[in-house]
Amino acid sequence: MKDKIIHLVRSNIKDLQPYESARRIGGNGKIWLNANESPIPSSFTTNITLFNRYPECQPKNLISSYADYVGLLNDQVLVTRGADEGIELLIKAFCNPGEDAIIYCPPTYDMYAINARIANVKIKEIPTFRNTWQINLEKIESNLNKVKLIYICNPNNPTGNIILKKDIINLLKITLECALVVIDEAYIEFSPKNSMIDFLQQYPNLIILRTLSKAFSLAGIRCGFTLANKEIINILHKVISPYPISTIVADIAVQSLNKNSIKNMQDRVLKINSNRNWLVNELSNISLVEKVFYSNANYILVKFHMFEKIFQHLWTNGIILRNQNHKIYLNKCLRISIGSYSECVRLIKEIKILSNR
Ligand SMILES: *Cc1c(COP(=O)(O)O)cnc(C)c1O
Repeated sequence: MKDKIIHLVRSNIKDLQPYESARRIGGNGKIWLNANESPIPSSFTTNITLFNRYPECQPKNLISSYADYVGLLNDQVLVTRGADEGIELLIKAFCNPGEDAIIYCPPTYDMYAINARIANVKIKEIPTFRNTWQINLEKIESNLNKVKLIYICNPNNPTGNIILKKDIINLLKITLECALVVIDEAYIEFSPKNSMIDFLQQYPNLIILRTLSKAFSLAGIRCGFTLANKEIINILHKVISPYPISTIVADIAVQSLNKNSIKNMQDRVLKINSNRNWLVNELSNISLVEKVFYSNANYILVKFHMFEKIFQHLWTNGIILRNQNHKIYLNKCLRISIGSYSECVRLIKEIKILSNR
């Protein structure tokens, strides 16, 4: 009987590998450096006490707070349940199942392909160049047939590099009338000058994803934003669920966007960037380290001799990293989220212990 029910599942879901979220992978950690969360919490309280009414679908004060923060108009902003929901809504709104395709450029964030697979939308995988991790424009251009969305992560997760602005602009030009270019700026606060926000005016096919989960230190509330011209935002209004943002989430998100909280966010970014530079410097003096890749975000990608041994040793000592060895070009690589200074010190101490054995 149970077997019969299982047969009802859609064929593209049956063999789907779900996203391996940091929380799903588990581990008995004291030091969590595997989900690119902020190691420095920001503390908020709410005065809201009554919850009998549904929230607004798009809470007006939250929309205008974020619009102010990024210097856009209210009608260019959609608030979602994390940036992940933005990735999904775009596919829902623009891709015909079984017919249209997305392009994504590994090694990068996995959720673009996973959402496409769930929606039964084709995936064209166009890897970046091996050493620079820049996008392969020529290959993208020759593969645009049936493509509606092109996902680019900038700074790229897990490699930490910035995608060249001139390449993104060329991509926007090439695709102007045929596809949407989605720039995932989940980590842009760590490298704000590289944002594509100023180009929204000029390119109607540009879409930007943002989140409060990383620099804003609010991964727990699940709040993200899609930024685009109002025609695109209006289409997304058609497919978003009726009440995606809870009353409490909206209240805390608005507080996180006031002047003082933004200043605190920027201070945290400075601190984390300085911890990152310290960590990079320490790692490059350890013989087990083959290469530390330059990063513009709150994580670094590191290639190790004996990466498995290092990953396991740290894991058993309560320091949880993210293994990237299975990804294209990333053999022997681990991704390390930048922790607090004392967490960085602990990490280096443990790696040195192994190095000296
Ligand atoms: C963390 C992350 C997200 C997801 O952000 P949420 O707002 O927490 O859903 C999106 N894109 C990239 C590249 C990320 O690393």
